[in-house]
Amino acid sequence: MAEQFDVVVIGAGPAGYHAAIRAAQLGLKTACIDAALGKDGKPALGGTCLRVGCIPSKALLDSSRQFWNMGHIFGEHGISFDNAGIDVEKMVGRKDAIVKQFTGGIAMLFKANKVATYYGFGQLQAGNVVTVTQHDGSVVELKGTNVIIAAGSDSIELPFAKFDGKHIVDNVGALDFTETPKRLGVIGAGVIGLELGSVWKRLGSEVTILEAAPNFLAAADAEVAKLAAREFKKQGLDIKLGAKLAKAEVVGDEVVLTYNDANGEQTLTVDKLLVAVGRKAASKGLLGEGCQVKLNERGQIIVDEHCHTGVDGVWAVGDCVRGPMLAHKGFEEGIAVAELIAGLPGHVNFDTIPWVIYTEPELAWVGKTEQQLKDEGIPYKAGSFPFAANGRAVAMVEPAGFVKVLAHAETDRVLGMHLVGANVSELVHEGVLTMEFSGSADDLARICHAHPSLSEVIHDAAMAVSKRAIHKTN
Ligand code: FAD
Ligand code: NAD
Repeated sequence: MAEQFDVVVIGAGPAGYHAAIRAAQLGLKTACIDAALGKDGKPALGGTCLRVGCIPSKALLDSSRQFWNMGHIFGEHGISFDNAGIDVEKMVGRKDAIVKQFTGGIAMLFKANKVATYYGFGQLQAGNVVTVTQHDGSVVELKGTNVIIAAGSDSIELPFAKFDGKHIVDNVGALDFTETPKRLGVIGAGVIGLELGSVWKRLGSEVTILEAAPNFLAAADAEVAKLAAREFKKQGLDIKLGAKLAKAEVVGDEVVLTYNDANGEQTLTVDKLLVAVGRKAASKGLLGEGCQVKLNERGQIIVDEHCHTGVDGVWAVGDCVRGPMLAHKGFEEGIAVAELIAGLPGHVNFDTIPWVIYTEPELAWVGKTEQQLKDEGIPYKAGSFPFAANGRAVAMVEPAGFVKVLAHAETDRVLGMHLVGANVSELVHEGVLTMEFSGSADDLARICHAHPSLSEVIHDAAMAVSKRAIHKTN
């Protein structure tokens, strides 16, 4: 006999744990199921993000950045030292401790909110029944008046470069190298390739990134991508565009890559290969016969704008559905669905989801790029301002980058903000807030910003939209 719940959530990643906790807060009897195990072989909640994604990658980005700064920035401050070294095992151990703290934190939050937690693999059957195969092999059945699928995503594997966990790895392996690879090959100059490529470059790897597309970071504003490419090149990241991998063979302790570019067939030998060519919805084994939930051609669960699957009481959120694969997009969908189930007006504004790439300099954006505005025939004005003219950025030895504000040519409403530079992962939210409140470039220009602060670059860029920036010629 299945135990009855108001809400059963499959998956305890960002989308699933937000849905479960919010549903429980709203007084709904809630269960959450997760199959994942941590590095220690014990169940670990929090999904890709907490275990092998956002949090561990940012831990390593921060460690490696401190190390890089010692060699490249400290001297400018007049600081010198002898024998700087990096203990990779200790660095990875620090990352593991952070992961444990946060995955354990979700378990505590579930307990505090009375979310019944099941550790095992869930499969949706007809009639909103979920069978859970637990880690000891036993099977339990849960029935939800509502079921929220939040199964997340897995790395895409290339058939000619299969993961072996040792020489050819995905993000999981690249977050756990026990020493700095002398030569690291990366397939894909996307978000993971750039972030994890940066980590190991800063620690001394010779990093070569092969990117199949002819343009660098096509989703970003073209000027932002251009400046970022220049900075990455200065750091020694070798990014080859239009380079299509044909095969990767492990020979002894090396990986020999064959790829094709504009000059024909090329080879490259590396010690480790990170394949980061995107992620796919994790729908394998999830949907039992007769559950009626449908997948699209990309294997994503089909949902409407409210994350409803079309099957009575069945919803899906996060990476396993359409839209950007971002933790915070999953957070918002999880909360919105829990609220809709409780009869509240849950809603996600997909137009104001920020993007951040945590490289050095950081890249961030919200809203439309200039190219999108041109393609859509929307009249716009642009104002930009460089970090090199900002006192705080120069004092921090962080002069690279700029902020660009795009506003409607007639209404002045902010349509996009594109940033590259120091701390733009934080600054972008000024653009998000302005857009959420339908604010104008003039609103931003009239808001008092503390001096000296990096945020003044946004203030100046907003003033530049109407050609009245004070700290540059307009
Ligand atoms: P997931 O986090 O994938 O969680 C799904 C959970 O469901 C998993 O725990 C899985 O084990 C479980 N599950 C799946 N199927 C079943 C089943 N049938 N039964 C039981 N359990 C199941 N995003 C950002 O916004 N910012 C970042 O900085 C960022 N950095 C990233 C870095 C890396 C290296 C990677 C790989 C990703 C990063 N992302 C980042 C993306 C982010 O991790 C995902 O968008 C986010 O984790 C998606 O959340 P989710 O809840 O949909 O799925
Ligand atoms: P991605 O889509 O960002 O980049 C994949 C890149 O690989 C693309 O540039 C693509 O052109 C290239 N590519 C595809 N096939 C190729 C091939 N055969 N050879 C060479 N290049 C090829 O994917 P990702 O970097 O794997 O990251 C997956 C997702 O995880 C991201 O889209 C993002 O949603 C999420 N993520 C977010 C963050 C963040 O928010 N900071 C960090 C990491 C990951």
